[in-house]
Amino acid sequence: MSYDLPLEFPQSRQALIGHGPRPNQAQLHFRRRRWPALPGAHRCPLHRIGSRLPSPSHPPCATPPRRAGTPPVFFSSRRRSSSLPASSACCFSMAWIWMVLAAGAVLLWAISLGRILSYSSPSCVPLSPQFMPPLRGDRRSRNVLLVVAHPDDESMFFAPTILFLKSKGHNIHILCMSRGNADGLGNTRKEELYHACETLKIPHEQVKVLDHPKLQDGFHEQWDHGLVAELTMEHVLLWAIDTIVTFDSYGVSGHPNHKDVHHGICKFLHANRQGNVEAWELASLNILRKYSGPVDIWLSSLISFSRSKQSIYTLVNSSPSRSYEAMAAHRSQWVWFRRLFVMFSSYTYINTLQKI
Ligand SMILES: [Zn+2]
Repeated sequence: MSYDLPLEFPQSRQALIGHGPRPNQAQLHFRRRRWPALPGAHRCPLHRIGSRLPSPSHPPCATPPRRAGTPPVFFSSRRRSSSLPASSACCFSMAWIWMVLAAGAVLLWAISLGRILSYSSPSCVPLSPQFMPPLRGDRRSRNVLLVVAHPDDESMFFAPTILFLKSKGHNIHILCMSRGNADGLGNTRKEELYHACETLKIPHEQVKVLDHPKLQDGFHEQWDHGLVAELTMEHVLLWAIDTIVTFDSYGVSGHPNHKDVHHGICKFLHANRQGNVEAWELASLNILRKYSGPVDIWLSSLISFSRSKQSIYTLVNSSPSRSYEAMAAHRSQWVWFRRLFVMFSSYTYINTLQKI
């Protein structure tokens, strides 16, 4: 007895399989009566020879005829093996690995966000009296000047710094070197900056947006560092500034205008060596840390602790929704990818400042 197809498979039946038009019900009934179920009906799930006639679109399994003298095959090893094929098992394992990794990432995100929200107010890590200590004399609070290149830089990148300094009672002033007129929206963006500053509790009279012909927004615009230094000096004197905060040499996003602002401030510091103005730069992060949201708090804190002698501090924003609200005030810029940026950017949750 064999479960292979019989060698005497009727020629007329072979002619029916996979050829000609689909038979009607009467023809099917006739054929079922003429050729009842054959042994081996279970061998192929597609054809089920014997239980029903093969579909014209699926020719029957090509089972090689058994050689003379070869013992009949009663049970196929393929039939006994009911496990998944190797490729399917591999895909299944990979899916499990990805699911575990995704669940781990979500858990880490939630724990990190919980850590940030656990602060009752904006905080500094490590907590050190050496970071912007109160001034002596009649003034204990500092006049801090935040120098940025475009409207929205303050909300998108510096919100944790602004909120921390405000919580310590310092006066924040903002000097924006351009109106952000690259798309012809300069006036709109200027107004939006004032709206964002209302959200961040910075008075209008402490915000200045410049519109200098040699300092226009654009990737291909090269700003004169001497001019930036000169304009900064003007406002330092105007507002009696003692501390400056700005971009570092990479400019967080790599925008040339951000970099030029940094170099302009360096030039100002060089020319004002005898003065008592100190400056801090916002550390640019690599792409993994930049888009790790609150998760970067662990690494940033570790770096700040390990390099405390180099004056590196991590400022934690205990209310990330404030960053979101401030950025939303820039309505012309509040498009879907910037919403995603604010959500996933670590600059929404923490800032790492280091002394220039
Ligand atoms: Zn910018």
